[in-house]
Amino acid sequence: MSSAQYLDRLDRVRKGMADQAIDVLLLSVGHDLPYLTGYYAMPLERLTMLVVPRDGDATLVVPELEARRVVEQPDVFTIEPWPESADPVEIVARLCGEASTLAVGDQMWARFLVELLPHLPAASFRRAVDVIGPLRVVKDDAEVAALRAAGAAADRVAAQLHAGEIALVGRTEAQVSADISARLLAEGHDKVNFAIVAAGANAASPHHHASGRVIEAGEIVLCDFGGTMDGYCSDITRCVFTGDPPAEIAEAYAVLHAAQAASVAAATVGTSCEDVDRAARQIIADAGYGEYFIHRTGHGIGLEEHEDPYIIAGNTEPLAPGHAFSVEPGIYLGGRWGIRLEDIVVASDAGPQRLNNADHSLVTV
Ligand code: ZN
Ligand code: ZN
Ligand code: ZN
Repeated sequence: MSSAQYLDRLDRVRKGMADQAIDVLLLSVGHDLPYLTGYYAMPLERLTMLVVPRDGDATLVVPELEARRVVEQPDVFTIEPWPESADPVEIVARLCGEASTLAVGDQMWARFLVELLPHLPAASFRRAVDVIGPLRVVKDDAEVAALRAAGAAADRVAAQLHAGEIALVGRTEAQVSADISARLLAEGHDKVNFAIVAAGANAASPHHHASGRVIEAGEIVLCDFGGTMDGYCSDITRCVFTGDPPAEIAEAYAVLHAAQAASVAAATVGTSCEDVDRAARQIIADAGYGEYFIHRTGHGIGLEEHEDPYIIAGNTEPLAPGHAFSVEPGIYLGGRWGIRLEDIVVASDAGPQRLNNADHSLVTV
């Protein structure tokens, strides 16, 4: 990313601030700050804060000892390092001046907001997502390329799972999770965000934490994993069966497979998020599994694993080119088994683009 690109984002944020009568934007830890500056604040007790007045220069208030990590972009923001003995909240309050409406990032620590309030007794506060959300939700070509590369790297690990290169039977879920994590890094991710491995009845818990349970022959193994590569996230779910699946699971999987494909196909520009959700849900419900599909169909993805847009009933937002999100219906029979199938999809004028293309069938390993 060049300074010009960050300046362009900042310009668009300032337009949003003008439209919504926001005087100052305050961003601390979280992903809005790197989106606008390229800098990730350390999530520590020392305050880092980007102060963006609507009509003035942006300032990055940063602990002196971390200032050296900042890649300077004098066109975009000024750096104000604070020494250990200073009160950074006072510095932020001074930079806010006479602001009466401020917007703050969702992930700013409550501590810093609480300490700032007495400095600005007449001010009102809003969420920064109101101005940054509409920008972040639409990925530009470079962002889509980064998501595509991360998806391809995750696909290579899924292919290794399908090929039987990741031993399952006789190992614990936690061992397989560590194996998948190492492969995500080997395939180019900078960081692993999660590697869910859930065998048998554990697969009925969608966010199961890989445990010491040993995987046996003749059971479902649900693997849902993702990481961050060049700043953008991957997220894929594939299920395998250690042996020949029984008819009950094979039939349910065929329904799931059809539901996921229908939902991806429905994800055309202009279709509402809730209609994309409904496309999968209807097929699963018609097959009699409706009560076992216990979560939304998907979530947006980008700098964060879960962000807007959410593919869920009630979200009437229409898809636009550059919206990136997961399509991941599941069927979970509590105490018995569970299955989920997940790809990342980008809406485009040429139709829905899948970023994951690993085998979608229930592979026997
Ligand atoms: Zn999840
Ligand atoms: Zn996932
Ligand atoms: Zn997901």
